[in-house]
Amino acid sequence: MIFKTLVRKTKAKLLLKNLCTFAAFKLRFKIMRIDIVTVLPELLRSPFEASIMKRAIDKGLVEVHFHNLRDYTTNRQKSVDDYPYGGGAGMVMTVQPIDACITHLKSERNYDEIIYMSPDGATLNQKMANTMSMYENIIILCGHYKGVDQRVRDHFITKEISIGDYVLSGGELGALVLSDALIRLIPGVLGDETSALTDSFQDGLLSGPIYTRPADYKGWKVPDVLTSGNFAKIDKWREDMAYEHTKTRRPDLLEE
Ligand code: SAH
Repeated sequence: MIFKTLVRKTKAKLLLKNLCTFAAFKLRFKIMRIDIVTVLPELLRSPFEASIMKRAIDKGLVEVHFHNLRDYTTNRQKSVDDYPYGGGAGMVMTVQPIDACITHLKSERNYDEIIYMSPDGATLNQKMANTMSMYENIIILCGHYKGVDQRVRDHFITKEISIGDYVLSGGELGALVLSDALIRLIPGVLGDETSALTDSFQDGLLSGPIYTRPADYKGWKVPDVLTSGNFAKIDKWREDMAYEHTKTRRPDLLEE
């Protein structure tokens, strides 16, 4: 009897401890929420079901929600696009379902940014990713066809982001690139072994060459310094290599 009570008390204590840890964790680290507005949610799912993004979701460090624009249309055909005014090739995404979806989301919480993925937006870089990784709630709108009706951009969008100077058929791949770049920077997502701080661009330099075992593969040898055990020398070598690598490949980074 006494033993059972003891076990119950210990369990209760443990539960309370876990709850406190969770509450403290929640207070200390805000959980990021990403709402992705799309006509193709099936294109988005699998990347969030593997590797680092899955781990971040499983650890409760980020929540990702997909919203199918067709669920927000008021027309019977569930269409989300229409012909462009003035004629011309391609269809244009209509305002109504986007308005209904974004207005609904905004009524539930405040958003730091409502982002439209677009080739004419600001080109994504590590600095932008660092800033945005501290946000709490963001919406990412994925375009299709010729893009969205300009009034969506004028009245809802607070930031427009491109993932490079080329045109994709939809914003989903861009939304995935952006999500990955942000999620891996959230504290607790990457372990020490993959720390984001030593990645390219974080210190304005590209990463230098890296090696793993064996030290000699078919006569292709790892630089001696890396097996020397002299960590000061290794650090210096890494710095020099990163600088040289940046100078050859991206001299523009050294000018910044
Ligand atoms: N007519 C547009 C391209 C539309 S492509 C133009 O010439 O600028 C269809 C959708 O794909 C866009 O609405 C956008 O959401 C997405 N997209 C295409 N290229 C992209 C890029 N480089 N970066 C981010 N999103 C892109």
